[in-house]
Amino acid sequence: MKKWVSMGLLACTTLLFAACSSGNKASKSTQETTKSTEVASGASKSGYADPKSLKNNYDVIIVGAGGAGMTAAIEAKDAGLNPVIFEKMPVAGGNTSKSSSGMNASGTKFQKAQGINDSNDAFYEETLKGGKGTNDKELLRYFVDHSAQAVDWLDQNGIKLDNLTITGGMSVKRTHRPSDGSAIGGYLVQGLLRNVAERKIPIFVNADVKDIKANDGVVNEVKVQIQGEKAKSIKGKAVIVTTGGYGASKKLIAKYRPDLKGYVTTNSKGTTGDGIALVEKLGGQIIDMDKVQIHPTVNQEKGILIGEAVRGEGAILVDDEGNRFVNEMDTRDKVSAAINALPKKRAYLIFDQGVRSRATAIEFYAKQGYVKEGKTVAELAKTIKVNQANLEQAVTSWNEAVANKQDTAFNRTTAMDHPLDTANYYAIQIAPGIHYSMGGVKINTNTEVLDKNNQPIKGLYVAGELVGGLHGDNRIGGNSVADIVIFGRQAGQQAAKFVSAQ
Ligand SMILES: Cc1cc2nc3c(=O)[nH]c(=O)nc-3n(C[C@H](O)[C@H](O)[C@H](O)COP(=O)(O)OP(=O)(O)OC[C@H]3O[C@@H](n4cnc5c(N)ncnc54)[C@H](O)[C@@H]3O)c2cc1C
Repeated sequence: MKKWVSMGLLACTTLLFAACSSGNKASKSTQETTKSTEVASGASKSGYADPKSLKNNYDVIIVGAGGAGMTAAIEAKDAGLNPVIFEKMPVAGGNTSKSSSGMNASGTKFQKAQGINDSNDAFYEETLKGGKGTNDKELLRYFVDHSAQAVDWLDQNGIKLDNLTITGGMSVKRTHRPSDGSAIGGYLVQGLLRNVAERKIPIFVNADVKDIKANDGVVNEVKVQIQGEKAKSIKGKAVIVTTGGYGASKKLIAKYRPDLKGYVTTNSKGTTGDGIALVEKLGGQIIDMDKVQIHPTVNQEKGILIGEAVRGEGAILVDDEGNRFVNEMDTRDKVSAAINALPKKRAYLIFDQGVRSRATAIEFYAKQGYVKEGKTVAELAKTIKVNQANLEQAVTSWNEAVANKQDTAFNRTTAMDHPLDTANYYAIQIAPGIHYSMGGVKINTNTEVLDKNNQPIKGLYVAGELVGGLHGDNRIGGNSVADIVIFGRQAGQQAAKFVSAQ
């Protein structure tokens, strides 16, 4: 497996791309991909740029090779610029590699083809409701209005997301994922890497950006330490910062959310808020840092996220007594709070073979040993040591609710397309974990960083999880991958416009 993934990346980044265009059925689980790609640390061998090829000048410097960074680089290159990407970890991908359930978008050609009626206004209103009305409304409007185009743009670049599911707080299926229903992250990162390589955009890995500077009022220089060597100054004409969030920074979590001490995190190691600190030093406005999302369904052993698509495809949640206790498709904050109110602050996802076939990321969880199994619901109850009668009753009542399209117990209204009636039956024990940082850098819809007087800082653009405001108090599942593609594109285009006008 390790070999397969490393070779996949190698092929995607160094060879011609026929091998990679099978990407549509690519994804093994993305978390598996992340783990496996970590072996590919020799920069030049793995297809990343050789440190010796580093130049002193580029048109645009992109800090962070996650989804937002690679998207911005592709747009900048397509606008005629000469971008470079610096990534501090041994591989590209960041949290994007780990993303699982999919990418939200409204009014897409794939929704239309499947008869799903959706609108940008409905997407806007439901996201605003999920964020408790605190979202930056201008960013949100831009976001929903450009979501279908983002799905088209990916498709045009060989990244097809035509399989639809649903996440908590959404009223229709607008979560787009790869055709085979697998996790989105590995597939998306491979696809973006392939596009980056096709355009010969250099990605330097083990390249830690330590500082960003302005000269004559324009942000256009970074100090980067490559492979632990002495940091070098590299000049550009603009800088795009796409370093992701801070969900893996114990220091920042302790500072802004001391109540979350002891929680596991689902985030990748590099997610330490570096870009937020660098932008703040340049005078950028930082907002909402205490808004950190807890995801309800996380394996506690290794902080592995059990994606929302499992519930989106029909799973229910039960407590240690075998009883349902919440509308599983409510927003993440509410489901997490309901789990934390249980005596052991944990619960079980319960599903059948049908869910397992539709959410194929489950195969990865099974390989890790997280999926417990029974030929019948009764046998499953025994395996996980919950009350048998209660669990049988929970599944029977749920199946009645699905048949009647009415969940009188908890008022769930979505992800009710299929009953849980196909053997075998499965359970995964979960509890909440740190998952996403809603706080960060304040930007306008051009992805320009705003200073404390709400004025754009010249030459400085940011996109992705390090931005604050778009998601308000609570991010909706599927909205971050949409965020990184929509605003990653915008950052690349706007930086190109800025540079071309110089
Ligand atoms: C387990 C998991 C599952 C998820 N599932 C979904 C999902 O299904 N749908 C959804 O919408 N969202 C999902 N999310 C959220 C989403 O994946 C992320 O918010 C998003 O991918 C972040 O993208 P990004 O490009 O902003 O940052 P990242 O992808 O994290 O990339 C940032 C990159 O910058 C690098 N970097 C950081 N500091 C520096 C520095 N100083 N110098 C150089 N490089 C630096 C990092 O190493 C990293 O590679 C999930 C998140 C996790 C953790």
